[in-house]
Amino acid sequence: MRLGKMPRFCPTCGNSSDKEKFYGNFCMSCARGMLKERLPKAAEIRACKRCGSIKVAGRYMPDSARSIEGAIKPFFGRMGLKVLRYKGGSADIEVSEASEHGNLSVEYEIEIDQKRSLCDTCYKKACSYYEAVIQLRGNNYKIARFIERVTRFLDINNGFVTKVERNDNGSDVYVSSKKLASAFISRMRIHPTASYTLAGVKNGKRIYKNTYAIRYE
Ligand SMILES: [Zn+2]
Ligand SMILES: [Zn+2]
Repeated sequence: MRLGKMPRFCPTCGNSSDKEKFYGNFCMSCARGMLKERLPKAAEIRACKRCGSIKVAGRYMPDSARSIEGAIKPFFGRMGLKVLRYKGGSADIEVSEASEHGNLSVEYEIEIDQKRSLCDTCYKKACSYYEAVIQLRGNNYKIARFIERVTRFLDINNGFVTKVERNDNGSDVYVSSKKLASAFISRMRIHPTASYTLAGVKNGKRIYKNTYAIRYE
């Protein structure tokens, strides 16, 4: 018989601490098994059925492993969570829990249940929403450049061009956000003629649609 520490035995499987690492009173594999038992097998998230973006803490984010991590984090309380692979309907994750015995972590596949809806941007697109109209007149080349640049600017800033109407004198660009429209205009250092039309009243506040007229020589 060996001197020194007596081996301990796992109450669940009978494994001895001579052969396997222990975590608290249990062998590592039983401790992992018990942790896994307590973890959710599926998590429900919200995803946009048009653009696929995912709702994370109240905001829609691009579809990625990182967004999935944020979206399912609330199901794991204070435990550590890492999404290793995201495969659409499911994800391989690593969950870890810290206690006085150290750190215990498990890897497993969780089912991701996507509830489909429309994100704010796609909802607005779907109903042709717009807050501002930019009327472009004059030089066709400059008008085309403007449309290209404003479209890109809106895209980067979570806005969009609702539609572009061409006529004999130029183009009217309908824009989802007047805030972004005026931000773009001031960035371009142009000074359009602005006018405001009352579009309605919402929660006791008057809602205006802005129209900016720009003439290119
Ligand atoms: Zn065991
Ligand atoms: Zn969307």
